[in-house]
Amino acid sequence: MTVYLVGAGPGDPGLLTVRGAEVLARADVVIYDRLSVASLLELAPPDAERISVGKAPGGEGVSQDDINALLIERGRAGGTVVRLKGGDPFVFARGGEEAAALLGAGVPFEVVPGVTSAVAVPAYAGVPLTQRGLATSFTVVTGHEDPWAATETDWDAVARVGGTIVILMGVATRAEIARRLVAAGLDGATPAVAVQWGTRPEQITVRTTLAGLGDAAVAAPATIVIGAVAGLDLAWFEHRPLFGRRVVVTRPAGQASGLSRRLRSVGAEVLEVPSIEITEAADGGAAMLAASASAARYDWVVFTSANAVGRFLSLLPDARDLGPAKVAAVGSATAEELANWRVVADLVPQEFVAEALLAAFPDGPGRILLPQAAGARDVLSSGLRDKGWDVDVVEAYRTEPVPIPPSLAEAARQADAIAFTSSSAVTSYLEAAGRDAIPPVVACIGPVTAATARRLGLDVTAEAVTHDLDGLVAALIRALAPSAERGDPGK
Ligand code: SAH
Repeated sequence: MTVYLVGAGPGDPGLLTVRGAEVLARADVVIYDRLSVASLLELAPPDAERISVGKAPGGEGVSQDDINALLIERGRAGGTVVRLKGGDPFVFARGGEEAAALLGAGVPFEVVPGVTSAVAVPAYAGVPLTQRGLATSFTVVTGHEDPWAATETDWDAVARVGGTIVILMGVATRAEIARRLVAAGLDGATPAVAVQWGTRPEQITVRTTLAGLGDAAVAAPATIVIGAVAGLDLAWFEHRPLFGRRVVVTRPAGQASGLSRRLRSVGAEVLEVPSIEITEAADGGAAMLAASASAARYDWVVFTSANAVGRFLSLLPDARDLGPAKVAAVGSATAEELANWRVVADLVPQEFVAEALLAAFPDGPGRILLPQAAGARDVLSSGLRDKGWDVDVVEAYRTEPVPIPPSLAEAARQADAIAFTSSSAVTSYLEAAGRDAIPPVVACIGPVTAATARRLGLDVTAEAVTHDLDGLVAALIRALAPSAERGDPGK
């Protein structure tokens, strides 16, 4: 039994430490604050208990005494308890009080430091806290003073240090702080930067001066930086091509990550709204099992999706059970999944659609095994038969529509774009969420998906040139950030 006081970082889920991810992955209980990022909670096992102790602005929260008591109680109950705190647990986060309470109660605890917003948020705004010739120190100070606390900030001293001043929790008091710093001798023209929701897709940076800070339009949570370094503008985060854009990803849960990761890395905010799920074949996989047992009797095994690859190859006790059978993949993602199983595709068409695979395929005779989704188009099977092949089609899996909660559909409607990677995703999305839940830009991975979308009345504004996830992301960038295409870093 151990209670881990874990720093979650300032918001970007990538800024959680490896150690933090490791303890979260084996947590039995996660006790988290309001500002915690949902995707970090997903790192905990699905059955881990999740307890929110955060208070909404102006709302009821759990008192620190009650949080301490909860940590002690859960710690004593055994298992792995993770207390997830924004930024670093020992920087303005009352982690010290929690550690002291645990120590007093004899409950073992460990501290997993986090990336503090004091350092990371300025970095994401392109402001280095120290810089040769500009600042040799930085002072991190709270703008929110507890009237009952014995300690009080000596703003005259802070001004005299002469380095960079970083203020957390200072939005409400910024005008008064600026006044005190000027009274202490700082020049009103000293550069200042306020960064709201730093490191998150909603990040807003306001560049001003000490004199202008009080009137700067900024809301909490924000990190304020005052000093010569605040005059530097090495911004990069907000210049990524899809920064500030929200994209709906409709891939099945568990498969969304590849597309979501790519979109986030170019700055987009991703809203995952799975419209289909992958389920077992209707016969429970019996036909696949039988086909896999006789795989070596085929001349070719043809895969039209990564799903089919995974389902088929997981049934082979030994990769060599494929025997002399050659392997074809419809596109790069399917070929990559084959490579994950250490099988190199013998044939991948130039264009990642069934028609192109068919065109590239040699003529029969011979035997082909085609494991594919229930209800898949029959272009490939009938085309291969026309080419003289004997084709056994086996149902590898089914795609089932999943319901979309109204709140998610509403959030999707307000997004900038939606990305579809299959016809079934389009059909199911429209059935579950309706036309109203379609944002202005509709992006499709290829001509088949786009044709389905058009047939259902959607205006497809972005179509991938290469029919894979990278091609889809490129199409979204063309549609949403045309200036980035011209090499203009500003949106
Ligand atoms: N332990 C945290 C700080 C908690 S105090 C840490 O080490 O980062 C909360 C204050 O942190 C907020 O009022 C704000 O000043 C700052 N803060 C936290 N997350 C932030 C974010 N994403 N962007 C800007 N400031 C943030």
